[in-house]
Amino acid sequence: MDTSVQFGTRIKAVQNKNLIGGQWLDAASGQTIEVENPATQDLIAAVPRSAAQDIDRAVKAARASFESDVWRKMRPIDRGRLLENIARKIEEHAEELAYLESVDTGKAITFAKVLDLPSTVEVFRYMGGWCSKIGGKTLPVSFDGKEYHAYTRREPVGVVGAITPWNYPLALGAWKIASALAAGCTMVLKPTELTPLSTLRLAELCLEAGLPEGVLNIVNGYGHEAGAALAQHPAVNKITFTGSTAVGKQIVEYSLGNMKRVSLELGGKSPSIVFADADLDQVGLGAALAVFFNSGQICFAASRLFVQDSVYDQVVEAVAAAASQFKVGNGQNPETMMGPLVSGKQQERVLGYVASGLEQGATLVCGGKKTGDKGYFMEPTVFANADPSMKIAQEEIFGPVVSVMRFKDVEDVTRMANDTPYGLAANIWTRDIKKAHRLAHRLEAGSVWINCHGIIDAALPFGGFKQSGWGREVSEEGLLAYTETKTVCALLDD
Ligand code: NAD
Repeated sequence: MDTSVQFGTRIKAVQNKNLIGGQWLDAASGQTIEVENPATQDLIAAVPRSAAQDIDRAVKAARASFESDVWRKMRPIDRGRLLENIARKIEEHAEELAYLESVDTGKAITFAKVLDLPSTVEVFRYMGGWCSKIGGKTLPVSFDGKEYHAYTRREPVGVVGAITPWNYPLALGAWKIASALAAGCTMVLKPTELTPLSTLRLAELCLEAGLPEGVLNIVNGYGHEAGAALAQHPAVNKITFTGSTAVGKQIVEYSLGNMKRVSLELGGKSPSIVFADADLDQVGLGAALAVFFNSGQICFAASRLFVQDSVYDQVVEAVAAAASQFKVGNGQNPETMMGPLVSGKQQERVLGYVASGLEQGATLVCGGKKTGDKGYFMEPTVFANADPSMKIAQEEIFGPVVSVMRFKDVEDVTRMANDTPYGLAANIWTRDIKKAHRLAHRLEAGSVWINCHGIIDAALPFGGFKQSGWGREVSEEGLLAYTETKTVCALLDD
């Protein structure tokens, strides 16, 4: 059977409702939001358009399961086993999840299989291992010379509200779910209204793997309705958000009411830095992938390319040559490297940046146009002779557009690379490893990759400096962000 038909049927079978306290429910209002395949513009599903009432119901379910001890008092080794069971379930359903992610976001299914799915599986496996290792410390006390027994405990922060974006909805949702559950928290997650399907299927698989009802709740809806209600809810102890910096700032304001803990993974304008002594055979494809992967819709897309003077022309040519090899098309085709942008709105936004690059005097080397009669496809676009002050070099585009700029030396490129409100990631291409590490220490970025890009691993902290966010995801640091530290101190002297 043609797998697209088989999985096409499967889409209808995905629970396209809210998951609250183990039950699949419509929004209280009965309203829905239509979900579109950005490659074909077909409507493929409708999900509940939830509001404050639905969020309140879900938060109550998460609170009840948190208080009931079904999760946080489960033996740590059993909680870890359950997360491992979820990892296995995802592995068993990897083809189907990759398909869902591809039709919903438009992304290339080939890359969804090798990147999104392994990342989703591995974070459950990694965090499952932590469940039995979250401990505190015993500490020496000098206070008044008496004998004390003092120690810290790491306790779950409580009910977590999570809000996710559309570029990696499955993997980024999994980062939050796996970390919060490992810490013993319960959760209400609002996926983006644009691409909710893989998250809903993941939630179903979590239940099938044995996750107790009410531990993970999913509420669909728009950001300004369901998202705002979740971030404002007084019974939510922590909000974890991945999305744009503008909305991140609103989340901070919403959370002030009960002073929720807040983690933010926000936008970026990451630099690729190419020195003349780099392995130039690798750089063309490396720098092109660093920005065009997932059609440029990656928070750490290296959309500013700084090239040392003497190799500037050669690198521009190599990146443009690599870009011209990228096969743009429906993400369902296994040969596709770049699927469409997620929506018509996003396509218009990216085309607006192309127009501004031309207006401000950058040189269009390749791309710049939308392609295809249907769907939101866009050519990979290279601008040379860009100036750091141009809009295309300053603002996050979130599309397949790179601005190439020149630099003289390390001082020059350090200043330019850091000259942005963002600080998510950077990459450096050179054979001089001492120079690479020295520069890595000076870059204002949460992740620096040397002679590579986008190495995302459950063990490596991920997050941003400056306006790219607060806190880190995954890794031990990301896990501990779902805990509160409690100090216990007992007087032992009579
Ligand atoms: P977005 O900020 O528009 O939306 C993200 C989520 O927030 C969605 O679920 C949306 O419904 C919700 N939302 C929107 N308005 C809201 C409001 N007023 N209150 C509460 N929730 C609201 O972002 P997007 O367009 O979905 O994603 C693209 C952005 O996400 C880019 O800026 C990108 O850099 C960023 N991003 C960052 C990371 C990271 O790890 N740093 C990863 C992926 C994406």
